[in-house]
Amino acid sequence: MVPVRCCLGCRQRESKDLLLRVVAENNRAVLDDSATLPGRGAYVHRNAECVEASLGTKAWPRALREPRLDLEELTLLVHNEEHTKKNRLNG
Ligand SMILES: [Zn+2]
Repeated sequence: MVPVRCCLGCRQRESKDLLLRVVAENNRAVLDDSATLPGRGAYVHRNAECVEASLGTKAWPRALREPRLDLEELTLLVHNEEHTKKNRLNG
């Protein structure tokens, strides 16, 4: 059976291999694409909506037990996706 994890964006349960794993490394959130990095991991769907939603909360610092977590890599992920989606609706 595939392990199920919770997406920090939409809070839906999802099988682990459909989620992006993120670990904390030196107070930075690091995308663990190959799911091989050691340490505590947290998960989010691989889409800008879920990543963006997760960034608006304290979900990452809490899940990774790093109060001062640097979320730059996750932020960039959202921005990169928005680049490819032109004329995204504003509000
Ligand atoms: Zn999600």
